[in-house]
Amino acid sequence: MISIFSQNAPAKDRRYVFKKSNKNKQTVYRESDYTLLIRGNKFRQGDLLLVKLIQNKGLSYDLSKIKLFWNGKKLKTSGIDKNHYITFLPLPPEIEPGIYEIGLHYLKNKNFYYKYYAIQVKKAPFQVRRTRRINPLKLSPRFSPEQKLSEETVAFIQKCEQIKKEVYLSDSPLMVNENFGMPLNKNIINSPFYIKRYYSANSAGKPHSGVDLKGRVGDPIFAIQNGKVVLSSSMYFEGLFTVIDHGHKIFSLYMHQSKTYVKAGDFVKKGDLIGRIGKSGRVTGPHLHWGMKVNDVLIDPLSVVNLMIFD
Ligand SMILES: [Zn+2]
Repeated sequence: MISIFSQNAPAKDRRYVFKKSNKNKQTVYRESDYTLLIRGNKFRQGDLLLVKLIQNKGLSYDLSKIKLFWNGKKLKTSGIDKNHYITFLPLPPEIEPGIYEIGLHYLKNKNFYYKYYAIQVKKAPFQVRRTRRINPLKLSPRFSPEQKLSEETVAFIQKCEQIKKEVYLSDSPLMVNENFGMPLNKNIINSPFYIKRYYSANSAGKPHSGVDLKGRVGDPIFAIQNGKVVLSSSMYFEGLFTVIDHGHKIFSLYMHQSKTYVKAGDFVKKGDLIGRIGKSGRVTGPHLHWGMKVNDVLIDPLSVVNLMIFD
């Protein structure tokens, strides 16, 4: 849950404070062969949903035989123990609000069963922020798309794109065994997820792909969950950029660092020091840009932290 204060303050002074809430909205369907739980924060565009299959008391149906579908696409499930199977459902920020369904197929006594559960996806109040006119001369050249880039720079940007593409192909088993945490000691949001900002008078920037957390150069950054580092190197836009693979196609992204303590291939635990805040890449000042990617969909990192996976 995010609470917003100082609403009347000038846009540049507005701050969003993060509050952890364990009041998840959820729906539980108790069926004769299993129990299905669908949980999310607000079921809004950009949210992560948890789908959990739970063994009914006294039954021993093999939950791994139950197949889950979203939009006709099979969802990968992971057993967290014999009685609980989970999967994650990222709602893309651009998804049309409305009714969607989760399909469930299973075989029992040689009969196929098909069930469908409705999910209502709500509209998220993504913000649009029109900043004051920015003097283009004061901006880092990395902001300006009109700027002529050298051949070397173009080649470097292309190389970065290729590296990132490969990183997100990683498909590891789930390494999550507790709820997600926050990356900083003090987490103050300077810029929320999917806000549309204007970098120059005429051109709107792309919607914000993560959240920006306030910080000073050198402030410590911690892994938000157990996982395997799949990238930790300098990129053109992201600066010193670390990506952690948490398995099940869940990745956390940490940008603009001044220092990193990890390298690709390292395993980290939730809370491990992985780097320090900086202002590398395309930035106007020091901060941590923190992103979350699940099944190739960029979602609101706060919806991940607010989601109770284990309770
Ligand atoms: Zn950002």
